[in-house]
Amino acid sequence: MVKQVPAQMGVLRQSCVECRACPLRQSAFVEVTPVFGRLAHPGSEVEPEKIRIVIVGEAPGPTENKTGRPFVGPSGDILARLMMIAGIDSKTVWITNAVACWPHDEGRGGRPITIEPPRHSIQVCSGLHLDAQLAVFGNAKVIVADPRRAGPRRGGRPRTARPGWAG
Ligand code: SF4
Repeated sequence: MVKQVPAQMGVLRQSCVECRACPLRQSAFVEVTPVFGRLAHPGSEVEPEKIRIVIVGEAPGPTENKTGRPFVGPSGDILARLMMIAGIDSKTVWITNAVACWPHDEGRGGRPITIEPPRHSIQVCSGLHLDAQLAVFGNAKVIVADPRRAGPRRGGRPRTARPGWAG
């Protein structure tokens, strides 16, 4: 994955992967891997000037935590299908999350369950990592996949905006 992004994105990704700035990275139940954004088109190299849309989800789930990639599994399949139906070139779409680490808690039988990310983590993580990604894609529209949580500073209304809104 690292070789598929230009140097600038590689630096941002590394900073995210090494981050321990909030309690979400610590877990008594599983190893937590921060999940950085990726190009919606698998296997292609991102060209920042060509990115037209940034989709911001809430947070990774267990599958994303395992793979280190956002929007994989069912959510990734749905997203790919929607982009195809809408005629959107997946090479122009960057997908990421407001929170890079999987928010979870102890579930029944010792199996962790996904929980709503703490507000503090959303603020810290978006300030450190999401805003940095948005800054790279200066011409892109930002779509908040779950505005109630991914964009708390937006007042919870569905909308699109230009990069920089989360700052
Ligand atoms: S959720 Fe974000 S800020 Fe918190 S440790 Fe993970 S990468 Fe760092």
